[in-house]
Amino acid sequence: MTYDTPHRRLNPLTGEWVLISPHRAKRPWLGQVEKTSPENLPTYDPTCYLCPRNERAGGFRNPDYSSTFVFDNDFAALLPDETQALASDHPLLVSVSERGLCQVVCFSPRHDLSLPELDQIDVENVIRTWMGQSAELGAKDFIHYVQVFENKGAVMGASNPHPHSQIWATGLIPNEPAKELERQTDYFNQHSHPLLADYLDQEHKRQERILFSNDHFTALVPYWAIWPFEVIVVAHRNVARLNELTDVEVSALAGIMKRVTTRYDNLFEISFPYSMGFHQAPFDTQSHPEWTLHAHFYPPLLRSATVRKFMVGFELLGMPQRDITPEIAAERLRSLSDVHYKRSSPVDKRSSPADKHR
Ligand SMILES: [Zn+2]
Ligand SMILES: [Zn+2]
Repeated sequence: MTYDTPHRRLNPLTGEWVLISPHRAKRPWLGQVEKTSPENLPTYDPTCYLCPRNERAGGFRNPDYSSTFVFDNDFAALLPDETQALASDHPLLVSVSERGLCQVVCFSPRHDLSLPELDQIDVENVIRTWMGQSAELGAKDFIHYVQVFENKGAVMGASNPHPHSQIWATGLIPNEPAKELERQTDYFNQHSHPLLADYLDQEHKRQERILFSNDHFTALVPYWAIWPFEVIVVAHRNVARLNELTDVEVSALAGIMKRVTTRYDNLFEISFPYSMGFHQAPFDTQSHPEWTLHAHFYPPLLRSATVRKFMVGFELLGMPQRDITPEIAAERLRSLSDVHYKRSSPVDKRSSPADKHR
């Protein structure tokens, strides 16, 4: 049997899936990427395939864009093409062909400005782009999940320092949101209340792990955090998907994202690496009252710019483990300033009228 199109295979030991993109193995070797320090990036880099006016793979040329810029990933792990159904001739060898789309979203034309360094209005533009793409991709009949994420920093495998995020839209719901859907649905059926809304109530009562909140979002270190400085940003309203956010919520979310990422950068006074992504409800015909829109920040750094956490040994084979408690991590992040260490003025607070823990 030949496998040359995107598909997922089931691990019968865990019940989880692995996505395989054989066509990507054919992509050209892009060469060793020069590792420029993200601390001294130029505003424009003539060799960057994400900067305005520059050429990308396959002879595409970027427009002279002035805000966000979205394009289909030239080396997409998922393809929209109809593929032949894969034959499974044994219940332990299960595979399903997977259709989808992969997009890249450049935050701005500036090669050197990451999320915390962008102005409030530019972060709002990024969020509006994620909302627009979620709605557009989610409306396609073969798409059922839209994963918006940012991989920041060479340590996270980001191949280009130009600030950008990605959107992978899939026909099937990936492992992580599938697990969260099941847990949130079970909780909602038992309590007639969304799990994350009840969890947020508890956290607000206890105040141990909350970093800050405004009228529409709260940032906190979750009780069950795995990564040293892991953060979850949770919507106050029972909004299920990015494209359901109102104007004031977009503004509030931009304010919270800027504050989280500014404090991250201030923690070790470096451009702080992380994987960040939004978990929204599946794009099907249901309204998903059980689902609360939230974003996870998973940063690998532990004690300094060079000491990172690895998921190995017992963690890989058994379960995750941490030393620093989530409460202490929250206290450290709370103690930091909202003024970016590279800037002299504070981040825009317009959208944070009800700040706690200033
Ligand atoms: Zn660039
Ligand atoms: Zn989640």
